Amino acid sequence: MMRFSRGHVAEILLDNMFTAAGVKHLYDTQVEVVHPDHPLKAHIDFLFYADFDGKPQLHVIEVKSVSTIPDEPYSTWIDQLNFQLGLLRLKYPVGKLGGSILAIDLNAGAVHQFNGFEYNETLFNYLCNRGLNMLECLAGTEEPSTSTSFLCSYCSYRPDCPAMALPEVELPPEIEAMANKFIELNDIRYEADRRMRGIREGLLEFTGPTFKGRSETIDLVVSSVAPSMIVDSKLLKKQYPDVYPEVLKERAGYTKLECKSNCC
Ligand code: SF4
Repeated sequence: MMRFSRGHVAEILLDNMFTAAGVKHLYDTQVEVVHPDHPLKAHIDFLFYADFDGKPQLHVIEVKSVSTIPDEPYSTWIDQLNFQLGLLRLKYPVGKLGGSILAIDLNAGAVHQFNGFEYNETLFNYLCNRGLNMLECLAGTEEPSTSTSFLCSYCSYRPDCPAMALPEVELPPEIEAMANKFIELNDIRYEADRRMRGIREGLLEFTGPTFKGRSETIDLVVSSVAPSMIVDSKLLKKQYPDVYPEVLKERAGYTKLECKSNCC
């Protein structure tokens, strides 16, 4: 609900900005476009009928309210815009047609336009088929098909999702054994970390914040590490959105190994 309201506020803000720029007569808001043959429709946030110079064209603006402006538009945003462009093309078969996505970070007061989207017939047909498939799934006449996106990380169906299933492979016995050893050691490390945290608390309870001492078998030292300053990257991005990209540096990628038992 909060997210929905935030999106609505972003649209009102843009409407006010366009009105202040004197172009209110060039566009409509919340325009419904309907497929002529199928029960598919979309709502366009802003539909411009001419560019700022008054030359006729149709331009869709999809508004996205975000907490952080991404480097690239999400694929779901692009699909949504392409679907709107496709429905518009069916309604207006000729003429200039384009679209853009405006990502707005209300907290930071930052706006970024992803521009240059055009009608893509292949993508539109694919999206229509997906929409029709969803309708059939809702009616219970089809099994839902999967579609991976960044939303998968938040999906509660992920453990059972066929798109996440790993292909069956035959591993050499020594690799299988190494993988099992890896899992076993990882479990030991996890358990050791857990137990060490408890023991650490017990030791600190005895020593207090500073201690130095040598017993018959143990050297025990407790000291304080002074607080230090680090850059709060989230705050930097929020308060200085223009500076943030200039202080970014590439972090080297690495090979990620995931190894876990699939036996219950
Ligand atoms: S995990 Fe599977 S079901 Fe969930 S969003 Fe991704 S593809 Fe769809």
